[in-house]
Amino acid sequence: MMEWQSAQFPREVDLLVIGAGAGGMAAALAASLQGLDVLICEKDAQVGGTTATSAGTLWIPGNRQSREAGFSDSADAARRYMDGLLADPELGRELREVYLAQGPDIIDWFKQRSEVRFRPSGKHPDYQDRDGAAVSGRALAPEPFDGRLLGPAFKDVRPPIPEFMVFSGMMVGKDDIPRLVNRFASPANFLHAARLFLRFVVDRLCYPRGTRLMMGNALVGRLYYSLLQRRVPVLLRTQLKSLIVEEGQVAGALLSRAGQTRSIRARRGVVLATGGFSRSTPLRDVFMRAPVPPDSMAAPGNQGEGVTAAMQIGAQVSGPTHGTGAFWAPVSRTGSGQWAGLFPHLVLDRAKPGLIAVNAAGRRFVNEADSYHHFVEAMFDSDRTVPTIPAWLVCEASFVRRWGLGAIHPGTRDLAAHRRAGCFVVEASLEALAGAARVDTQGLKATVARHNGFAQTGIDEDFGKGRSELNRFNGDPAHKPNPCIGHIGDGPYCAMAVWPADIACSSGLETDVHARVLDKQGEPIAGLYACGNDLASIMRGTYPGPGTTLGPALVFGYLAAQHAAGRTRAA
Ligand SMILES: Cc1cc2nc3c(=O)[nH]c(=O)nc-3n(C[C@H](O)[C@H](O)[C@H](O)COP(=O)(O)OP(=O)(O)OC[C@H]3O[C@@H](n4cnc5c(N)ncnc54)[C@H](O)[C@@H]3O)c2cc1C
Repeated sequence: MMEWQSAQFPREVDLLVIGAGAGGMAAALAASLQGLDVLICEKDAQVGGTTATSAGTLWIPGNRQSREAGFSDSADAARRYMDGLLADPELGRELREVYLAQGPDIIDWFKQRSEVRFRPSGKHPDYQDRDGAAVSGRALAPEPFDGRLLGPAFKDVRPPIPEFMVFSGMMVGKDDIPRLVNRFASPANFLHAARLFLRFVVDRLCYPRGTRLMMGNALVGRLYYSLLQRRVPVLLRTQLKSLIVEEGQVAGALLSRAGQTRSIRARRGVVLATGGFSRSTPLRDVFMRAPVPPDSMAAPGNQGEGVTAAMQIGAQVSGPTHGTGAFWAPVSRTGSGQWAGLFPHLVLDRAKPGLIAVNAAGRRFVNEADSYHHFVEAMFDSDRTVPTIPAWLVCEASFVRRWGLGAIHPGTRDLAAHRRAGCFVVEASLEALAGAARVDTQGLKATVARHNGFAQTGIDEDFGKGRSELNRFNGDPAHKPNPCIGHIGDGPYCAMAVWPADIACSSGLETDVHARVLDKQGEPIAGLYACGNDLASIMRGTYPGPGTTLGPALVFGYLAAQHAAGRTRAA
């Protein structure tokens, strides 16, 4: 890591990249691979931002990796699908066309020149069943990464949230979970679990946590490792303060570190990749739907400083065309005091048979198995008439032991130990549960009875749970007649409160297809680029499928670098 005071600290570089998440590191890596002299500055003491705590999936329609694995997909199908989601498909079409046309090549480009590698996720359905939606072959996952390759720099990688690790430091992927839970069910499962555990024990002798990196952490490890291999300097604890404009173009930036401010010139421009404004209350209030929920799963440093610096020099920020202004997930509260955290209910529990979500009237308001984003949008809708923030996930204790619930792992025996007023309640009867959760008792009893009827017929007449590919994918395929609807029996019962939190903002800086930031007249501001969540989502407030922020982060990071390097097509 380069020292601030060092005489070698550059006064001038070709490209200055602000923020070391997926967007910033992809832009810096692509620029370095194009021969540019690059510097990244990162406000935090570690690289990775929200990317490091994410699932790491990329939505890349028509990608080569999936095609080679036997899945078929096309840009045309993805275009039809996205057009169908948008109220006005012409808005931002140009950027989506570039994304579709170049996304697969850009993923290959990184693979050929760096350690940034992906594998097909296989079956990973889009979030809505519509014309052009894909069930398989669109999503890519980062190849797991061996953190030991980073040596001492491993400590620079932001860890996942504690709730995503076991034994306070071991990462497990979605595929590991059933094998760990059923470790005594077969020799293969046992061997897998034993191998993971042994590796973790050895890791802990030398490293602060397990070094088998998965998901978003693997993506960050791969990007950072590739940057270090190319000797791209990454200046940690260094924050963008403002942009320097000379003769109508961005010529550098003012950076601050440990209370000192320095300027740095950037011959080819500055890339803003500060992860958006999820952690800025004033910007949330302007650009997210009201009333704005206070919780966010984004990295704490993402306070909108990139967007603000660009706005100060006349940049345009996307407005009401971005739906609710964010990508949402229902989250439950974990721990307390300094251990307090949020757990995002993404895929593991809501779609499993035997769980319902209710509002204060004790009534369902949503297809529980829909995507986390659509679940929260339904919370917002329901909350207009009946208090639904928080909503309650209700199931039997046997459900939690089998599937887990939020941060409570499958197999947990002592559920009462997790009791917390207002967050998680366990009771012997539905009446007592309703009282503890402060939801209407008669409403809850009637809802459970009606739901149990659906469990018998397999048809959710109210919300269609189990009808979509996504629902069934996250349900229990062995459960009949509907993989997502199961009888709720005699208890004991559990209820967990969930609130809306954003996992990323969707509004951001408007750019052209080269990721150049636009001014209020729609003209590019020379020398200023944006990527990651600083760039307004090309999905314009819709959430097509898994990976719809990280896919564009890499693609537009690359495109910004290409433009800064004077090239405009994947070569
Ligand atoms: C639990 C969870 C799961 C998710 N899973 C997925 C998924 O599978 N696929 C997907 O597409 N999306 C997913 N997301 C969303 C995704 O993680 C984010 O959209 C993405 O990581 C944003 O990347 P970024 O590069 O824009 O920002 P970040 O990764 O957040 O990086 C921004 C960096 O900029 C730094 N920074 C901020 N301000 C400054 C400043 N002034 N100066 C210098 N540096 C600064 C921050 O410290 C941070 O390190 C998930 C999110 C969560 C919370």
